[in-house]
Amino acid sequence: MIEVKEVSKCFGALRVLKSMSFTVARGEVVCLIGPSGSGKSTMLRCVNGLERHDSGTISIDGMTVDTTSKTIGSVRAEVGMVFQRFNLFPHMTALGNIIEGPVQVRRRPKAAAKEEAMALLHKVGLADKADSYPSQLSGGQQQRIAIARALAMKPRAMLFDEPTSALDPETVGDVLVVMEDLAREGMTMLVVTHEMGFAAEVANRVLFLDRGEILEEGPPSELLRRPQNERTRDFLQRVL
Ligand code: ADP
Ligand code: MG
Repeated sequence: MIEVKEVSKCFGALRVLKSMSFTVARGEVVCLIGPSGSGKSTMLRCVNGLERHDSGTISIDGMTVDTTSKTIGSVRAEVGMVFQRFNLFPHMTALGNIIEGPVQVRRRPKAAAKEEAMALLHKVGLADKADSYPSQLSGGQQQRIAIARALAMKPRAMLFDEPTSALDPETVGDVLVVMEDLAREGMTMLVVTHEMGFAAEVANRVLFLDRGEILEEGPPSELLRRPQNERTRDFLQRVL
């Protein structure tokens, strides 16, 4: 579903991604872990074309991600993204946020979009918050709305960039449950996270990224319990 081949990216003289390659199969959940500044967010942003990679190729379900192409908008619409900071539109209700993409981008009739949005609100456990504005919701609730908003576009894959890092501890669990449900339903997911419990339970594979390179990858039972690389061991000792 997601194929990253020898992707490199510099910011000025700084080489942030060094010929990175990995794939995420349909229905697979891959967690990307690694120290701050290792290039995790940049990688995710390149995958959905928010950032342009310098060389190598990225494709989503066979469609090439090329930010200079006219088709980048339609490729981007196939990939849902949830950020660390819930960036809901503050002047729109939860429901308004969720129907915006389907109505504006997918040209869904409003009534149908609303019906689908209500189903998504049920799914994320917030059916009673349809008319609430983001400022009236907790961080965890906003993040679940952000997930519902991404799902409303019926994406082929979902990218998460530390979706629970900015949340109060007591709201983290509700968000992780929604993500687990999504994984169980077969959504293809690429997740940057420091939640090692989530990685251990839900990921099919974990990639350890350091200084723009994947140093180690494997099933969580291997990588998290018996890391082979010294830097992976160091990192895990610090976060676990
Ligand atoms: P991570 O998400 O793993 O913490 P990032 O991908 O955010 O890492 O950043 C990787 C490196 O790239 C960092 O050194 C960061 O400062 C740098 N960087 C990220 N975005 C930009 C940008 N837009 N311009 C310049 N440098 C950037
Ligand atoms: Mg980051």
